[in-house]
Amino acid sequence: MSITFEDARDLILEQVRPLGTERVSLLDAHGQVLAEEIRAPWDMPPWDNSAMDGFAVRSADCRKPVTLAISGYIPAGGRPEPKVDPGCAVKIMTGAPIPPGCDAIVPFESTEEEGDRVSIQGEVAPRDHIRFRGEDVAAGTMVMTPGTLLRPAEINMLASFGKGFVAVYRRPRVAILSTGDELVEIGEIPGPGQIVNSNSLALAAAVREAGAEPVLLGIARDTAESLREKLAEGLQADALITSAGVSAGDLDMVRQILEELGVQRLFWKVKIKPGSPTAFGTREGRPVFSLPGNPVATMITFEEFVRPALLKMLGHRRVIKPLVPATLREPLKKKPGRAQFLRVHVVREKQGLVASSSGDQNTGIVRTMVDANGIAILPVEAESYEAGDEVLVHLIPGLDYV
Ligand code: AMP
Ligand code: MG
Repeated sequence: MSITFEDARDLILEQVRPLGTERVSLLDAHGQVLAEEIRAPWDMPPWDNSAMDGFAVRSADCRKPVTLAISGYIPAGGRPEPKVDPGCAVKIMTGAPIPPGCDAIVPFESTEEEGDRVSIQGEVAPRDHIRFRGEDVAAGTMVMTPGTLLRPAEINMLASFGKGFVAVYRRPRVAILSTGDELVEIGEIPGPGQIVNSNSLALAAAVREAGAEPVLLGIARDTAESLREKLAEGLQADALITSAGVSAGDLDMVRQILEELGVQRLFWKVKIKPGSPTAFGTREGRPVFSLPGNPVATMITFEEFVRPALLKMLGHRRVIKPLVPATLREPLKKKPGRAQFLRVHVVREKQGLVASSSGDQNTGIVRTMVDANGIAILPVEAESYEAGDEVLVHLIPGLDYV
């Protein structure tokens, strides 16, 4: 019994949750997901300070053009003393604390400095060019909650509050196992009938791209002993991804051995093309993804099933990439009964995004995966499309600048 793409993805997402948390240095926190609440320990900015290089003045002195005595100098990092008397101005740099008595900054551009005096032309209003204590964030405000992705902006704010270490969700260790008697490892010269195990490397890259940590288990042969040994090892990780050996062939034993090892299967076979033999199960809460071996199918099923699951395990709030609408450049036909993941090349034109097939859609053709920057998801019931019809596309990470 095969299930739909959406049901399969929902089933997977119901099974996975964020792992434990760990404290990491802020330097290493980029791209991870915050696992704690952060409240501002102090006001930001911590004190009233100058937004410009200029002169701190009493605005009441400057109702009309005036010349003031320069009574001091406060650089950034300087101290705001002493109190400034009427008729005086203090030279001040951006970020320096406002000295007592002053209530406005006049930028250098609106002043003329001669010796120890400064002339001020234009109008000066109270509060001009001052950044007030707490105007950015008041002490005690909740600034971030668990699930926040730590981008440079979040890291800047955390650093400004002195948070050198933060709790984040732990990166899952994801075991990757390729299976098949025909495979040799990269670096070996393939003999007759042999091909290089390219899927392990592609999956490792995809796991890293999602933010998780790949653990390469190499190749299991198409024998029960080899599979048992390697799969048992893979089940120690936070998640296990296998490639190949899940179709209906004589030597496709991955599902059977996983079952023997206590993996509870939640589905096998999805109404999709490519990737229909995909299977999924769990053991002790750990997800096991059995992906088909054809490299295109492996990569697409990773993108559509495994990636959202890893993002959820990493603590992300949103794990399903938005589908973006694009119009088809050419007509196309598809068989009803399963959803199709169409490899497309998407470009932006005046009327919006336009998608064309990136070429031969046969599952064995890797070149058209390389040429694609998107995967159009054509629904189960769809049969034929005209040029100009709309399709919904998942843009491929890193190539989504269209
Ligand atoms: P299977 O699912 O075992 O029937 O494999 C489907 C196709 O994918 C076959 O043509 C395999 O040779 C190919 N294949 C399987 N595993 C890999 C791998 N690790 N790297 C590249 N191609 C593979
Ligand atoms: Mg095989």
